[in-house]
Amino acid sequence: MMVRESILHLDGYKAGKSIEEVRMKYGLEKVVKLASNENPYGPSPKAIEAFKSFDSLHIYPDPDPLDLREKIGEYAGVEADRITLGAGVDGILENMFKLFVEGGNEVIIPVPSFPYYHILTKLSGGVEVRVSRREDFTVDATEVLNSIGKNTRLIIICSPNNPTGNSENMNELKDIIEDGGVMIFIDEAYAEFSSKNLLDLAQYSNVILARTFSKAFGLANLRIGYAVIPEELRKYFLKVSTPFPLSTPAKQAAIAALDDREYLKMVVDRTVAERETMLRELKKMGVRAFPSESNFIFIETEFDSAYMVEELLKRGIIIRDCSGFTGCNSNHVRVSVGKKEENDMFLEAMGEIY
Ligand code: PMP
Repeated sequence: MMVRESILHLDGYKAGKSIEEVRMKYGLEKVVKLASNENPYGPSPKAIEAFKSFDSLHIYPDPDPLDLREKIGEYAGVEADRITLGAGVDGILENMFKLFVEGGNEVIIPVPSFPYYHILTKLSGGVEVRVSRREDFTVDATEVLNSIGKNTRLIIICSPNNPTGNSENMNELKDIIEDGGVMIFIDEAYAEFSSKNLLDLAQYSNVILARTFSKAFGLANLRIGYAVIPEELRKYFLKVSTPFPLSTPAKQAAIAALDDREYLKMVVDRTVAERETMLRELKKMGVRAFPSESNFIFIETEFDSAYMVEELLKRGIIIRDCSGFTGCNSNHVRVSVGKKEENDMFLEAMGEIY
């Protein structure tokens, strides 16, 4: 095979196990998936309706739909010409790497964080510079600033951070943005679940702040992401994007989802309440679970993560083994916050295992 040398040694993105896979392997009837931080309530019914209302599937979509950018602009409090769209935050990330990183450029990543950052750095020929986080997993601005060198092109900060769940303080990040002099990518995929939002940081000319419809809006399957960017970057994002990143049904669903704030609030309120219940119950069991500002919980188990994951699989619960994440250890796992009955099933199983 004549694929590029760097691809031969690349560990690709590993999606979580599917419900069907686990049902078959363990002969189980009921299996719940709490592994991919999906929204168990699904999207607003109005979004589903809007998705279904489009049937001109033979026509290419608008490559850069203004109506969706305007809607997002309203939601985020910025002008539509500061919004760029992509196939999920994944698509935004791909465009951003095309724009900023080439052979030998350094990308600073406080670890652990979202695995796709590492994959894209390697794919673009960049060099990953890992920075450790503090005990509470927050980013240490001094550490980051000390890691900046003449080849640094990008700093990636995820808040709330996947997989650790914590979010960042605006002021700490301001130090990095103001003193670093390089482009900062802020991944706020889980912003809606957090008590802190970092949108104000998108006012800086060296900040790209990305968000998604995959989580709180429940549209993961439609692949819709966006970023608030400096206006002068928009034309470059368009240049490197795939020609038609967003389908029209997806666009219509996103617009309808943004219009249904009541539904969004229901999802966020329930998720946050369930998350806090889970944390309380896990604590009672003596499980080392970390506080979360997101729709998942990071856990350092007393057991090997593979054992923990397997014990839960036997009981019909899929969680994420994080031991393979750069910067995690062999005891780290992550569980998504599901619906009450799913979380109860998880908690009962954890009680048995512990
Ligand atoms: N960033 C983070 C931190 C994530 O956890 C995820 C999803 N797992 C993504 C980005 C990708 O999201 P999207 O579905 O919008 O591509």
